[in-house]
Amino acid sequence: MTDYDVIVVGGGHAGAEAAAAAARLGARTALVTHRLDTIGEMSCNPAIGGLGKGHLVREIDALDGVMGRAIDRAGIQFRVLNRSKGPAVRGPRAQADRALYKAAMQDLLARQANLTLLAAEVTDLHLQDGEIGGIVTGDGRTVTARSVVLTTGTFLGGLIHIGERQIPAGRAGEAPSLGLSRTLKNAGFPLGRLKTGTPPRLDGRTIDWAGLEVQPGDDPPVPFSYLTDRIETPQIACHITHTSPAAHDIIRANLDRAPLYSGQIDSTGPRYCPSIEDKVVRFADRMRHQIFLEPEGLDDHTVYPNGISTSLPEDVQRAMVAAIPGLERAEIIRPGYAIEYDFVDPRALDRTLETRRIPGLFLAGQINGTTGYEEAAAQGLVAGLNAAARAGDGRGRFVPDRAAAYIGVMIDDLVTRGADEPYRMFTSRAEYRLHLRADNADQRLTGQGIAFGCVGPDRREAFVAKQAALEDARRLVRDLAATPQELARHGISVAKDGARRSVHELLSYRGVDVARLAAVWPELDRLTPEIVEQVEIDAAYRGYLERQEADIRAFYRDEALVLPADLDYATVGGLSNEMRQRLAAARPATLGAASRLPGITPAALTALLRYVRKRERHAAA
Ligand code: FAD
Repeated sequence: MTDYDVIVVGGGHAGAEAAAAAARLGARTALVTHRLDTIGEMSCNPAIGGLGKGHLVREIDALDGVMGRAIDRAGIQFRVLNRSKGPAVRGPRAQADRALYKAAMQDLLARQANLTLLAAEVTDLHLQDGEIGGIVTGDGRTVTARSVVLTTGTFLGGLIHIGERQIPAGRAGEAPSLGLSRTLKNAGFPLGRLKTGTPPRLDGRTIDWAGLEVQPGDDPPVPFSYLTDRIETPQIACHITHTSPAAHDIIRANLDRAPLYSGQIDSTGPRYCPSIEDKVVRFADRMRHQIFLEPEGLDDHTVYPNGISTSLPEDVQRAMVAAIPGLERAEIIRPGYAIEYDFVDPRALDRTLETRRIPGLFLAGQINGTTGYEEAAAQGLVAGLNAAARAGDGRGRFVPDRAAAYIGVMIDDLVTRGADEPYRMFTSRAEYRLHLRADNADQRLTGQGIAFGCVGPDRREAFVAKQAALEDARRLVRDLAATPQELARHGISVAKDGARRSVHELLSYRGVDVARLAAVWPELDRLTPEIVEQVEIDAAYRGYLERQEADIRAFYRDEALVLPADLDYATVGGLSNEMRQRLAAARPATLGAASRLPGITPAALTALLRYVRKRERHAAA
């Protein structure tokens, strides 16, 4: 018998979610991380969610994960981004009190049954007959398990850059992980190198707040978790300032000392989250760039200046900050820095996030080439569930697909296309955006989670009650109907054709909402805001949703065409050599996955389709 069923290495966002998920499935789980007091640490921005990322958090929550509940306890400013746009692209975001977030995550994990937290450095993997057998810690101990999930973030071969200074580190003040990096390399994993960066932290007491634009949060704040009724944590406002031409001049004059431009860093950073030196060079005609000044906590005077991530030398950072309105006297508590780290090409993974090279070894988070807490947590959830399933009762795999979840979009992108730059989630990555909304994650996934066994009784009960209320409301809005004359008496004008129109139909008219129709039908007043939101979206986007459902059916037809894992592409007629090489390197699991590989031609897909059909005919004969 092994010491544990599942060992999760790392207590960041992927690790916390992986450990909680495995334990929820009943696996005897250990989370092993350098220091227990850094579990749930936000290495960079003290915020959760945003466009695309907020969708991931809602999906994690729908599967009973912990991130949504933690941020609901720790959030000090909640805002739904893109509120004025369509429901598909609205993204919930919350700024966190960094200390409260860590405390909430540590508390949620401490209460999780089947989960043991261990402080240790993991230096090696323990293998048995080529499969995972456990881990080896820095003090030489071997701890055995049937599955291991690695979630080591930016720690593998981590190297910090601040101007000309280079410091081996996993993040500020923490040692890098060198042993595991070596182990993965020796095992033949394809490793690459990426980089990310963080801004200097400022002392809020030295910022001149007067005259800066104030940015309030939403009132009332909208929680992330489907289980949270109300946000109880006090809320704060943020402020906005901008860089200045003088700050840009200082940056330009010192580019030869910037690791990004001096040749000291040559790995790729997140394109959509560039450093300030990158922005000044790439957008040379822009006179200023926006900076959000975000307090890191209610009792903390540290301020995170969102928008000026940098690895310039400290003296240049000081001069640049002093040239920004409101920050003329601001003191830097900690300089900004860039960090380079090793990652594993995620094409080495199966959709369960298990490595093909070492059965039983799973990878999740930044180690797979992604960036961001939410991306990490979502992978952690999937890896944790599959690691537990493999270690346990053979309950199968948990693999959400592209039509069901942003989590599915991300994993499909990673395992089929890899990551040549840090991968972050955007709504534009999803084909079925109108279906994959942040507001309906529970309807898309909680049922699936209940069937797989990862949803606890509280959420199950809440979900069943909400589904029943939603069904009643959907019936009600179709049943209630009125003639044009009856509607006119309440000031609602429609064509005078004598036809009775249902609430569902009326809700697709511009300017008509449930609140307005409650004047005609007072029973609509009983619907809760979350149910009202659903019936209004159903009605307003009826035509688009129907079309998208047809697209999703076509997607499932392609995904049902499974390509055998041992398929010899040399035997598939009609494929060019280039197509054979691309397909053999990627080994897509389905025809749908093959169609999403970069550079695969329609002719190659037709040849594959012909081949699969022929095999099916042979098998049936
Ligand atoms: P992490 O949160 O890094 O957690 C890794 C965990 O593994 C830690 O608990 C660590 O102690 C533990 N660990 C590592 N090795 C071992 C070992 N050998 N033994 C035991 N424990 C181990 N994301 C953005 O979206 N935007 C940004 O602008 C951004 N900037 C960033 C800037 C910096 C400087 C850093 C460091 C990160 C930045 N990120 C940014 C990324 C974000 O922090 C990560 O994407 C996210 O934290 C990844 O989560 P994770 O769980 O994969 O890893």
